[in-house]
Amino acid sequence: MIGRFAWRLLRETDPRLLWKLVHTLGWKGMRAIRSFERRRDRGETFPAFLFLSITNACNLRCQGCWVTQSSPPKHLELETLNRIIEAGKQHGCSFYGILGGEPFLHPRLFDLLRAHPDCYFQVFTNGTLITPETAAALRRLGNVTPLISIEGSESVSDVRRGGARVFARSLEGLQACARERLFTGVACSICKSNLEDLAGEPFARRLVELGVHYLWYYIYRPVGPRPAPELALDRDEVRRLRRHIVALRRRAPLLVVDSYWDHDGKALCPAALGISHHVNPFGDLEPCPIIQFAADNLARADDIAGTIAHSPFLDRFRDAVPRRTRGCIVLEDPAALANLLRETGARDTTGRGTGFAELAALCPCQSHHMPGDEVPEDHWAYRFAKKHWFFGFGAYG
Ligand code: SF4
Repeated sequence: MIGRFAWRLLRETDPRLLWKLVHTLGWKGMRAIRSFERRRDRGETFPAFLFLSITNACNLRCQGCWVTQSSPPKHLELETLNRIIEAGKQHGCSFYGILGGEPFLHPRLFDLLRAHPDCYFQVFTNGTLITPETAAALRRLGNVTPLISIEGSESVSDVRRGGARVFARSLEGLQACARERLFTGVACSICKSNLEDLAGEPFARRLVELGVHYLWYYIYRPVGPRPAPELALDRDEVRRLRRHIVALRRRAPLLVVDSYWDHDGKALCPAALGISHHVNPFGDLEPCPIIQFAADNLARADDIAGTIAHSPFLDRFRDAVPRRTRGCIVLEDPAALANLLRETGARDTTGRGTGFAELAALCPCQSHHMPGDEVPEDHWAYRFAKKHWFFGFGAYG
């Protein structure tokens, strides 16, 4: 599988972009993990990766989306974004996840990407706004991988995403990226309505035909103002997804990514580990995108690096959560999370003022932590990568 995947990369991606991927994402990403581990061993905390939601504007209305759209939309200022990335560089961070809303609706996105050629950006997008011109501009920059979210077959996609022809429009964006020889990924948030379609080998093979190089699986989180808890996976379904991921890694010539399990199949929470944290469009520093609470704001901070490294709220979060679970505290114990947030005095950053009410309404459901049901990696390359490098970049929970 590794040989076929490597051959695909050589044949399908622009050599200049492939070098950027290997050097800036691969080599520098590995060094960022090493720096993170050395800091942690010295009792210091600064994440290896930062995820930046640069706007709350979006052209879709997805089930389970936690973002509050506003009119006019809120775009995080370029000056603040540049200061955050400069603070990250001081700590060896070279990889940044760019989220929204829909990042391509931020008017200064390309200025941001262009300003940091020494960094690598993963733009998490619904793909519907990627035109041939946009894809060509991404190719010229060379330091960007588009990660296009697909949430089901044609019919399921439109229901999940609250729009018409969403699947077809995302595919058009994806094909524009493939034509421009970009290193391109697809992300799927697996729930009851798309498990059958998306957690199967035929879907992965179709993505290979479409020129996709990596497939990132998430577990659906029933959060936000339209949580649709009936879509959440149960234990059998989470186990089935895990087994599918491990099996697919042996067979399909594309990278299969998750940010939930280590090489032994044990659960991990990137935010509880402190390996990644999130900044929302207002500059609030949150544990992760779906925990919309913060005590620090980077847009108003004079010392951004110091604010990130010395956040009493995040320190308390990283201390308390691992004592409760290796998995997702939001899914497993929203009441305990609410108590922790109250105890730390964290502010509700949902933009709806309903953060605590939403946590109170959330019934505990199955997360990726399944003690006694661990499914270890059985492909040497993934075992090595997860054990020594990272566990799939740790992006979104
Ligand atoms: S979504 Fe859950 S598992 Fe993921 S980082 Fe947040 S708290 Fe951790």
